[in-house]
Amino acid sequence: MYPRVVTCVQKVHTSLRPTVLSCSSRHSTTNSSINDKDDPDFFKMVEGFFDNGAAIVEDKLVDDMKTRESLEDKRKRVRGILRIIKPCNHVLSIAFPIKRDNGEWEVIEAYRAQHSQHRLPCKGGIRYSSDVSVNEVKALASLMTYKCAVVDVPFGGAKAGVKINPRNYSDLELEKITRRFTIDLAKKGFIGPGIDVPAPDMSTGEREMSWIADTYANTMGHSEINANACVTGKPISQGGIHGRTSATGRGVFHGIENFINEATYMNSIGFTPGLKDKTFVIQGCGNVGLHTMRYLHRYGARCVGIGEIDGAIYNIGGIDPKELEDYKLEHNTIVGFPGAQPYNDHDILEAPCDILIPAAGEKQLTRHNVHNVKAKIIAEGANGPTTPDADKVFLNNNVLVIPDLYLNAGGVTVSYFEWLKNLNRVSYGRLTFKYERDSNYHLLMSVQESLENKFGKENGTIPIVPTAEFQARVAGASEKDIVHSGLAYTMERSARQIMRTAEKYNLGLDLRTAAYITAIEKVFKVYSEAGLTFS
Ligand code: NAD
Repeated sequence: MYPRVVTCVQKVHTSLRPTVLSCSSRHSTTNSSINDKDDPDFFKMVEGFFDNGAAIVEDKLVDDMKTRESLEDKRKRVRGILRIIKPCNHVLSIAFPIKRDNGEWEVIEAYRAQHSQHRLPCKGGIRYSSDVSVNEVKALASLMTYKCAVVDVPFGGAKAGVKINPRNYSDLELEKITRRFTIDLAKKGFIGPGIDVPAPDMSTGEREMSWIADTYANTMGHSEINANACVTGKPISQGGIHGRTSATGRGVFHGIENFINEATYMNSIGFTPGLKDKTFVIQGCGNVGLHTMRYLHRYGARCVGIGEIDGAIYNIGGIDPKELEDYKLEHNTIVGFPGAQPYNDHDILEAPCDILIPAAGEKQLTRHNVHNVKAKIIAEGANGPTTPDADKVFLNNNVLVIPDLYLNAGGVTVSYFEWLKNLNRVSYGRLTFKYERDSNYHLLMSVQESLENKFGKENGTIPIVPTAEFQARVAGASEKDIVHSGLAYTMERSARQIMRTAEKYNLGLDLRTAAYITAIEKVFKVYSEAGLTFS
């Protein structure tokens, strides 16, 4: 069976849709789809956020152009490149049949969008959800381009969605769907270590990534030495990397930490700096939500509420992540968790807390509930949880929104490390582990010897006692240590870049626009230096 519908849109040749990018204020009401309605389709919403950033940065991009063109031609070139960046390059739409366990045949709809090939491969998760649509996948793919740019991960953006509710399918059926989808992606050039590399997203994880890797390596990729780099988020035994499963949540924690420790930002919202004793609420107790909860709890914040698809719980005294995780594993729900009370009076998004972490679907914070939100920090673990109207209200009310394209980039950052590991065919630390351990040992010995030479050994040898921190590192860095420190560094460096951009363009608390500008400047540079002629 071949895919029934295949739509491939080549961006550079066919997608130069007119767009108006003015140099006026980002809140201009004349040109942005953002201002038209509260609930735009998701792709338009991302385009609107892009337009806001582009409008602000356009003059600078023109000023920085090193060509000998007139000012007018430079502006045309800048607007042309911005227009090229915005749309999705390729969209694959597939329908394929599977035979269900009960003998019935069913046709499954699925999509993969590749937003940009300015860097290769394209990168982005695969989600299984009955809400999947082509526009959702395009929106998520474009967000991935900007996200990768924000954290300096050299990939273009992509995303896939399979329109199913995975709870309605057996494991065998899910395996059939995943393997069949992989074959279709491979046949159409939508998967491959140097072309397009999927990863987990909603309702997919190590198991699905393992099926994908296996299917690709045993079919289209059978002669490729790098075949298992066709997907990330794999189990360790299939070429995965330590720390990938928890990477997005860990990145969310680091992202919050980087802003919550900044006195200037905290003063602006009436908070004291630091995580300790801050309360938080999470919507969505899945991969991102649960790991975010674990790390915030570990570093002193208190989880007071969790919302799930089938109910919410609240406990002002704090909810223990380990107990909740165990309960959820056993009961397949958080409802009835004995360490908290049911929360039925309001939406969990409106529950009292300092930090609200939407970690489920998009467009959860809208003009309809934004005025009821009590949190002063919105930490976007999910992609696209805040509509543009809600975003404006938050900004006007001095609520700090830490935006998705920065905050949940930990997943793709560690996916990048996994991809590099696969290409290198060696795990991090393996070549240096023993050398580092021996060097540290020799360092301690040489300090001891120097002290003994100077002060003598009459009273016995002079013991050198490493500090607890040094002792923990003396044996050399494991793969996990390297991944964790690489992720922490990435999140910190990108936070600094966003803060600098916010300051430079006088954006106040508008970190979303600052993050988009940061991304646009980087993607623009790649397109611009590629010497496009627009012929
Ligand atoms: P997941 O499927 O592991 O978890 C999502 C959870 O949210 C599920 O438990 C689901 O029941 C719950 N949920 C769904 N709708 C809800 C609602 N209306 N109210 C309350 N709970 C609801 O998915 P995930 O991987 O944790 O992804 C969550 C979000 O984070 C998505 O927006 C995804 O795109 C984004 N994200 C994920 C990753 C990753 O590495 N997994 C990386 C970056 C961004």
